[in-house]
Amino acid sequence: MFVSECLNVNNEGHLTIGGCDTLELAKEFGTPLYVLDETTIRNVCKAYVKSFEKYYHGNGMPLYASKALSCKELCRIAKEEGLGLDVVSGGEIYTAVQAGFPMEKVHFHGNNKTADEIRFALESNVGKFVVDNLYELELLNEICGEMGKKANISFRIKPGVDAHTHNFIRTGQIDSKFGFALETGEAFEAVKKAQMYDNVNLTELHCHIGSQIFDIDPFVTAAEIMLDFMGKIHDELGIVISELNLGGGFGIMYTKDDEPVPYENYMEKVSEAVKAKAKEHGLPVPYIFIEPGRSIVGEAGITLYKVGGKKEIPNVRTYVSVDGGMTDNIRYALYQSAYTVVNAGKADKEPDEIVTVAGKCCESGDLVQEHTKVAKVEVGDTLAVLSTGAYNYSMASNYNRIPRPAIVMVKDGKARIVVKRESYEDIVKNDI
Ligand SMILES: *Cc1c(COP(=O)(O)O)cnc(C)c1O
Repeated sequence: MFVSECLNVNNEGHLTIGGCDTLELAKEFGTPLYVLDETTIRNVCKAYVKSFEKYYHGNGMPLYASKALSCKELCRIAKEEGLGLDVVSGGEIYTAVQAGFPMEKVHFHGNNKTADEIRFALESNVGKFVVDNLYELELLNEICGEMGKKANISFRIKPGVDAHTHNFIRTGQIDSKFGFALETGEAFEAVKKAQMYDNVNLTELHCHIGSQIFDIDPFVTAAEIMLDFMGKIHDELGIVISELNLGGGFGIMYTKDDEPVPYENYMEKVSEAVKAKAKEHGLPVPYIFIEPGRSIVGEAGITLYKVGGKKEIPNVRTYVSVDGGMTDNIRYALYQSAYTVVNAGKADKEPDEIVTVAGKCCESGDLVQEHTKVAKVEVGDTLAVLSTGAYNYSMASNYNRIPRPAIVMVKDGKARIVVKRESYEDIVKNDI
């Protein structure tokens, strides 16, 4: 009935998540409130791990791309489920360290890692640096030298696959701020250069072709292009690169228009392509990493809001104002992202009213969703926005000095806070 299997309707007609009544959660923990279903998160993790066992002899590892939602509890869950972790900043590394994450399973991404972040990552024994450019390569080599360390590195490659058009194309992706281009020979030069530095050890190549992708074909094409490149490196330089990181980007369901494919299908198709290409080039079958972020937490999360006002503008539209908005979910303002909105206390009723859900910030563009159908909304109702687990809390801000909401984790009818709601003291704590 709803976007995610963790959602249901109880006898009172209330929306439930993980067996908890959303109206009770709103009452107990306040609104706005992020709610995550632990079982859903763990099931997705298990599905990814299992797909490696089933289709690739377990010769690989999913990494949770923690930028989708970085907090200690998510790091702990990823650790318990046997996943590695992707980080893109010192703050995400710090979170992983604080959560007791095995740092050798952490990959450090980013197109502008600062010297301080590199030092902190080395001190924290981060397992791999995904190097984005030659400045970084040189800086990393230099800092490793100062610290008496050697870093395992990967290169981020632009495979030239643009997955964001319906019929994906293989050119035109040189224009990206991330990584080394294949077409220009930049990537090949970087591989040669890495051999000249003493303190880095190139073991992996990496690509990431985009996000919220439903087609498997672009992933297969990207994998083939990467294997061809590994073949060229082997043939011309005599170097065998033993690991391949194929990135994340697997699509999830925000509304009924989205049709994600089961995540197992991805590994099935991609592992076939990788094995065939490895054979063709006389290469050993590489160890594979994938980096799902959105698909691990996205559908597991919802956001609960209280409706504080309603404005019916005849022949224009009806605004419904909620107690959060772009501060806790900037995705509509940023990309007009589609979401499903449910009137949580009337989840058994037909959606019959078209409304625009507006946030409380001083910004006309502060909308959660426009012209969306919900069961008739009244002031005081609780609205649930579905599939908000990824890129909502992690992109949250304190605009208008609005404190960030709490995150509550639910499991089998029980709820616990995993990130506290910010207080007004938190808001001013760095002010001098
Ligand atoms: C953002 C990102 C991911 C995760 O993407 P999702 O769409 O959330 O799965 C993985 N790898 C890299 C390098 C990224 O930048």
